[in-house]
Amino acid sequence: MKITFYGVRGTSPVTQPDFAKYGGETTSILVEGEGGELIAVDAGTGLRNLGRDLEASGRSGRELLFLMTHYHLDHLMGLPAFAPLYREGTSLTIAAPRRKGRTPQTVISRIFSAPLWPLQIDKIPARIDFLTLPAAAAAPLARGGLRVTWAPLHHPGGSTAYRFDEPATGASFVFATDVEWGESTPTERKAFLRLGGDPAPPGLLAFDGQYGKTEYPRFRGWGHSTREDAAEAARLVGAKELLVTHHDPGKDDRTLAAAEQELVRTHPAARLAREGMTIELPGGDTP
Ligand SMILES: [Zn+2]
Ligand SMILES: [Zn+2]
Repeated sequence: MKITFYGVRGTSPVTQPDFAKYGGETTSILVEGEGGELIAVDAGTGLRNLGRDLEASGRSGRELLFLMTHYHLDHLMGLPAFAPLYREGTSLTIAAPRRKGRTPQTVISRIFSAPLWPLQIDKIPARIDFLTLPAAAAAPLARGGLRVTWAPLHHPGGSTAYRFDEPATGASFVFATDVEWGESTPTERKAFLRLGGDPAPPGLLAFDGQYGKTEYPRFRGWGHSTREDAAEAARLVGAKELLVTHHDPGKDDRTLAAAEQELVRTHPAARLAREGMTIELPGGDTP
């Protein structure tokens, strides 16, 4: 299994050069299975580069499962600029649980409608199917050799954590962005811990850590965790490695590097996610 982080910034994209090391694109990742399976998660601005890479490698015609954690704009605003949508032969399935009773088809169709975007959903050349998921996985969703399970997270309007298992290689990855761990109810925590532990602790956990613990009290209720919360969640599920993601758009490379140093001192298996980072599971990684 290979995971590429095309966007790790939270809330809003940033483009200044002193944000370039950790990256300014908002959340979008690609999970690739050994058998060439493709699963994208979230359509932040990082999705533009994800689409570019799929096109450059001739894979944009391959069936793509597209999971949405939720629809806050920083996770959605890259979708209209996803080049494979404008190519005949692209086939994708957009999947997510209902939000406020709305299916993925209802929400995504709204993005591709006047006055928000020039092209209506039925004029998009790609074939788009929609799949409404239950709030939590009753059974895994199979995609070739990959198995996907999920659970709800504490976040305003809701958010979903996804887990990817590849039984043939033993690789496992949990992606949990946009979660306020500190405000999570016992039921929400239990659901996340069950996801993290079933069938075994994950090789990698990517978890929201937008804030430092001293600044968090000012942002309580905004739906995000601290880096310390992320480390606690990683410890509780027994994750081998932790990547903290959803970096605050106000934090430049120097600030994030200092935060990362502090995190690594107390949690040696933790790092901050960087845009462009590729992780191979199980095993090592390449920058
Ligand atoms: Zn977000
Ligand atoms: Zn959000």
